[in-house]
Amino acid sequence: MDLGFCINEEAIKSHIKSCEGKHIQQIAYSSFHDALTQVCFTCNCVRTTLKREDVEEKTNINSS
Ligand SMILES: [Zn+2]
Repeated sequence: MDLGFCINEEAIKSHIKSCEGKHIQQIAYSSFHDALTQVCFTCNCVRTTLKREDVEEKTNINSS
């Protein structure tokens, strides 16, 4: 699954609109990061307004 970083919520929302009704998608909102994330299983893609640093910091749990 591809990970795409979007600049703002509007960009995510336009992706959500274009997938809506045609694709299997999930939308997640993080109040902590104030970030919107779209997971589209049909596009096989995750699109988020999270910053790359936020994602890598959280997923890089093996390095201390
Ligand atoms: Zn899609």
